[in-house]
Amino acid sequence: MYKKSRILYAKPSISEKEVSYVLDAVRNGWGETCYEWLERFEQKFCKYVGTKHAIATSSATGALHLGLAALGIGQGDEVILADTNWIASVAPSVHLGANPVFVDILPDTWCIDPVHVEKSITPHTKAIIAVHLYGNLCNMDALEDIAARHHLHLIEDAAEAIGSRWGNCRAGSRGTFGVFSLHGTKTVTTGEGGVLVTNNDELAVKARMLNNHGRAAGDKRQFWADCVGYKFRMSNIQAALGCAQMERVEELIARRREIFFTYKELLRGCSSISMNPVPKKNEEYGYWMPTVVFSEESGVLQRHVLAAFQTENIDGRAFFSPLSKQAGFLSRPENINSWNIALRAVNLPSYHDMTDEELERVGHVILGMIGRKS
Ligand SMILES: *Cc1c(COP(=O)(O)O)cnc(C)c1O
Repeated sequence: MYKKSRILYAKPSISEKEVSYVLDAVRNGWGETCYEWLERFEQKFCKYVGTKHAIATSSATGALHLGLAALGIGQGDEVILADTNWIASVAPSVHLGANPVFVDILPDTWCIDPVHVEKSITPHTKAIIAVHLYGNLCNMDALEDIAARHHLHLIEDAAEAIGSRWGNCRAGSRGTFGVFSLHGTKTVTTGEGGVLVTNNDELAVKARMLNNHGRAAGDKRQFWADCVGYKFRMSNIQAALGCAQMERVEELIARRREIFFTYKELLRGCSSISMNPVPKKNEEYGYWMPTVVFSEESGVLQRHVLAAFQTENIDGRAFFSPLSKQAGFLSRPENINSWNIALRAVNLPSYHDMTDEELERVGHVILGMIGRKS
């Protein structure tokens, strides 16, 4: 039987530029020039996001860990975040000894609900982690207001939100600090990698010091640490790849948008399906993951869609299950939207080089789920 080619859900876009920069780093980026690509990458990233500082790391998880540690978040502190999340957004808080408090999401953006945030604040609360899920933006105006009134740090996990912005202000640049992921599935990639961005000089110095095993910048003593730190650094070779990707960032983001709107057009007029929301006035999304949510009335569940994808040789990607259902966290079924939407939602394959034919194949499966063959 003729077998259709596999459609992956994510794949980076690698041009000759990436290849040539990486070759240069591998051939020449040693000794005195061992940090050249890294410095270049950090400058490009700062400039793009519009923050004073960017610190390249080995992952977004590492960047989040560094930033939280630099803020002194630890034992007994409470950190509020949305129940609908990837485990990476909460793991650093747990490792630092803080207690995560999972709150419900908004039904339209699938991002943290500010009303629930405010209700969950206790004297132990130290921070809110706002995750811009799939590139949809959190309601930062409301979160900033809450954080200011309660003297909390507002942290942006913009791992999925490169390209998302409010006017000229980019996701990741508004919080005490922000983090981005450069994992192979993300819009901009270095294979594995992350970035911590901030406008706070003191925080940047502290995070760099912690990321260098607790050695202060400029300390002339060799192998001398001021505290026990971390080592979440990015290599110069990965940074070379990152430089090429950042020089193509507008192209990479434009293609994500194009893919999202192609799906939206393919699924147009289908009232049982909703997709990533329409950005509010002045907002723009990077559309990392085009997502479909089937209505309750449709009876279509995530597992049905994933099974149909498998039959069609399409890589399925489940919408995030609530963290409070997993990993021994306190169960919070009262987070109704988080618990309910996940059962009916999937992310659609989307990568730079996807063909129209592949997009149509995916769209066809989705439409077929509700008995309306395209
Ligand atoms: C991908 C992702 C992370 C983790 O990124 P790594 O670079 O793999 O550590 C964290 N938060 C969110 C929201 C992500 O999507």
